[in-house]
Amino acid sequence: METGNVYDVIIIGAGPAGLTAGKVLASRNKKVLILEKNSIAGDKPCAGGLTLKDFKKIRVPDSVITKEFKSANLHLDGHCTKFEFNTPWIWTCDRKDIGKWQLEEAQKAGAIIEFNSEVVKIDKQSVFLRNGQRLFYKHLIGADGSNSIVRRFLGLKFEKVGAGMHYLVTDSKFDELEVFFDYKKFGPTYAWIFPRGEIASVGVGINPKFSKSDNVKVEFDNWCQERGIDVKKYKFESALINYDYQGVEFGNIFFSR
Ligand SMILES: Cc1cc2nc3c(=O)[nH]c(=O)nc-3n(C[C@H](O)[C@H](O)[C@H](O)COP(=O)(O)OP(=O)(O)OC[C@H]3O[C@@H](n4cnc5c(N)ncnc54)[C@H](O)[C@@H]3O)c2cc1C
Repeated sequence: METGNVYDVIIIGAGPAGLTAGKVLASRNKKVLILEKNSIAGDKPCAGGLTLKDFKKIRVPDSVITKEFKSANLHLDGHCTKFEFNTPWIWTCDRKDIGKWQLEEAQKAGAIIEFNSEVVKIDKQSVFLRNGQRLFYKHLIGADGSNSIVRRFLGLKFEKVGAGMHYLVTDSKFDELEVFFDYKKFGPTYAWIFPRGEIASVGVGINPKFSKSDNVKVEFDNWCQERGIDVKKYKFESALINYDYQGVEFGNIFFSR
């Protein structure tokens, strides 16, 4: 084993979890390597909404915020209630901007980040990349999202998995943040309109276990059309959302969900 290939911590995934862990550990003088299969950080379907808790915890700078809100409109059974506060309590941003900023922070702290580096196999002491490279860890962090290879290596269940889908409305006239609860259409999840400047994310969460419709995408498209959103014009994106929490610490392997 070459010492150059041995890290105190290898983190799989340069999403918000992996980059935060990388920054914290590198700033405590650990030799940290973050492996990311994509070519940039933050290339993930996301509405870009940050709550007060996120905002305080990761101390997001103003430069990556596109819009801040003191109010939100909550729609339930056709009724709308406006929740208003004296100070901002919810923010929106472009996920790629957050990724770029978090990447710089992790690098400044001393973490090494390798892009285009997909982990395809894990054993008790090392990870293997698609290009055949083998890298050794003392500790491993699985921050690799909803379809995690670390979760599979640990043999953890994958049962509670939902999804999110949205359109990126590029000529948005939406100015207010809107959240819609419509049990008959979407079950116990919610739909949203999150404006961020000229773009708005218009989306819905899905939980197949409780879904009220055979085809939530068609249901969602109809819902968009009812709001004057011509779905044929805009980019559609979707991704899994795994919420099957099974613990964090598994010996020298840590897991972000
Ligand atoms: C449509 C949609 C809208 C959403 N809107 C919001 C919102 O407004 N606000 C909010 O807080 N949350 C939102 N979410 C949820 C949010 O995106 C996730 O909770 C968040 O991304 C989780 O961060 P993470 O760092 O754990 O994982 P991820 O962001 O998924 O990052 C995991 C990273 O690991 C990489 N990776 C995966 N496998 C490998 C591998 N084998 N080797 C190397 N790299 C790998 C991936 O490429 C990815 O970059 C939304 C989700 C969806 C689907």
